[in-house]
Amino acid sequence: MDTFRRLPKPLRSTAPHGNLRKRKHSAVVDDRSPSTAPKASDALPLPLHLTNAVFFTLFFSVAYYLLHRWRDKIRNSIPLHIVTLSEIAAIVSLIASFIYLLGFFGIDFVQSFIARASHDVWELNDTNPNYLINEDHRLVTCPPANISTKTNIVSAPPKLPASEPIITPLASEEDEMIVNSIVNGTIPSYSLESKLGDCKRAAAIRREALQRMTGRSLEGLPLEGFDYGSILGQCCEMPVGYVQIPVGIAGPLLLDGREYSIPMATTEGCLVASTNRGCKAIYLSGGATSVLLKDGMTRAPVVRFGTTTRAAELKFFLEDPHNFDALAVVFNRSSRFARLQGIQCSIAGKNLYIRFSCSTGDAMGMNMVSKGVQNVLEFLESDFADMDVIGISGNFCSDKKPAAVNWIEGRGKSVVCEAIIKEEVVKKVLKTDVALLVELNMLKNLAGSAVAGALGGFNAHAGNIVSAIFIATGQDPAQNVESSHCITMMEAVNDGKDLHISVTLPSIEVGTVGGGTQLASQSACLNLLGVMGACKESPGSYSRLLATIVAGSVLAGELSLMSAIAAGQLVKSHMKYNRSSKDVSKAAS
Ligand code: ADP
Repeated sequence: MDTFRRLPKPLRSTAPHGNLRKRKHSAVVDDRSPSTAPKASDALPLPLHLTNAVFFTLFFSVAYYLLHRWRDKIRNSIPLHIVTLSEIAAIVSLIASFIYLLGFFGIDFVQSFIARASHDVWELNDTNPNYLINEDHRLVTCPPANISTKTNIVSAPPKLPASEPIITPLASEEDEMIVNSIVNGTIPSYSLESKLGDCKRAAAIRREALQRMTGRSLEGLPLEGFDYGSILGQCCEMPVGYVQIPVGIAGPLLLDGREYSIPMATTEGCLVASTNRGCKAIYLSGGATSVLLKDGMTRAPVVRFGTTTRAAELKFFLEDPHNFDALAVVFNRSSRFARLQGIQCSIAGKNLYIRFSCSTGDAMGMNMVSKGVQNVLEFLESDFADMDVIGISGNFCSDKKPAAVNWIEGRGKSVVCEAIIKEEVVKKVLKTDVALLVELNMLKNLAGSAVAGALGGFNAHAGNIVSAIFIATGQDPAQNVESSHCITMMEAVNDGKDLHISVTLPSIEVGTVGGGTQLASQSACLNLLGVMGACKESPGSYSRLLATIVAGSVLAGELSLMSAIAAGQLVKSHMKYNRSSKDVSKAAS
């Protein structure tokens, strides 16, 4: 059967949601969507805009004709009830066109009010099968079962070009109704998981609604192959799919006498290859060694007093060693793994910033430290009743922002890592020489960064390696900001023949439990490193080991990139690994 309705036109991304609602009779109606209410226009053998034009013209012309006849009859004193055949035809046409126009425009208008008034369409749909959502995303009553379904049957939608948005067939009519309810705003998208109790189905429905609302296709963003239940309430809200990031392996990294294969999730060509080369240079030189200097996650609330004197009194109280044990008992109640290490205060007028530092076992520890801080603030209320807690975080912590406090005091794990790279390895593997590397490091990583006013950025590309490992192992990628703080040092040793290289990273914030670490892919990468989950024998040793592996990998990355720059190879290797020889225009089509 022919169709007189068009497929929905893809909306421009800038089109507001409202535009979608304004569209009339333009959605797909096929045998998969019997929920669509039949309209008089469905039966007419003309395209919709022509049918509308015909009825409009008919309505106004017969109305004009009848008014004329009415005036003539009054002038000529002819009784109004005496009608000619042409007048009868005109009256019938007027009524018919009026009914058509009312059915087409008026009822939809009324229905829009009904839909808005129905606060929970979901329940209506569940309990009353006669309520359905029409193609204009409005609530309508479904035709009784005995009405012929013929009016709903139209041919399959024509194939859209690949770049056009796609209306994906959903698993059931019920899903179709839910999608429509989300599109028209009667069901909040965020409630899908709790209402359906099926995370995968919720994601599929949300995704389809999003495509319809934006007019943009999500083809290419996979939906299948992911456990949506595993992220619920922990990692991501309102999922519609997942982004695929390739994971490459660099290594083996020989660190503290053990070999590690380093998983790196990245889309930057050259990065894994370069880190791999650094690992090789370290390996051939006998390996790298690391030392964990500090392990303490921090949280710093801001509290306010009426006077600076009172703020200072609390500072002295908190920093007094005699009070530490009592405060630690209160703080440590937050978790069996949280152990208060120290409290550092800073005053700004009447405001006090209190930086609590604690060990957090194998967790990165933000939740844990925040709970401990909350306990202490409640405890302080008895002696400092005039203390006004402005915020649990006052930015003296400092989380996910470049800050000197992390660079100087450390946050999370502070690690230093070193290696001595032999002269022949520098020449054969790194294709440069020691003196050039030492000079470049001084002028670029030290003096150059000083010229740039760097804060913790005294390195070539620590952020590259840190981010790639963070993403692969389920760390919080935003903490790359302070975790990438690093100073790279290089020095000629052994009579100037060999290269001593070190990296010092004071704020590596990693965990092997909690957050994204428990997801399947990320767990697999942690497992590869031998640090998956919680360490039963010695809580905290997995996360500390992970921090040293991050530092060791940064060492490899620094070594390789600095060598490439010293040897003038950087642009050449990027052109080789970072610029595909594929015809981009063909790939795009
Ligand atoms: P974070 O504090 O990094 O946000 P979470 O609080 O989400 O981490 O996760 C840590 C949870 O894991 C806590 O409930 C803690 O009791 C539990 N846990 C189990 N084993 C360990 C361990 N070895 N180290 C730290 N936490 C652990």
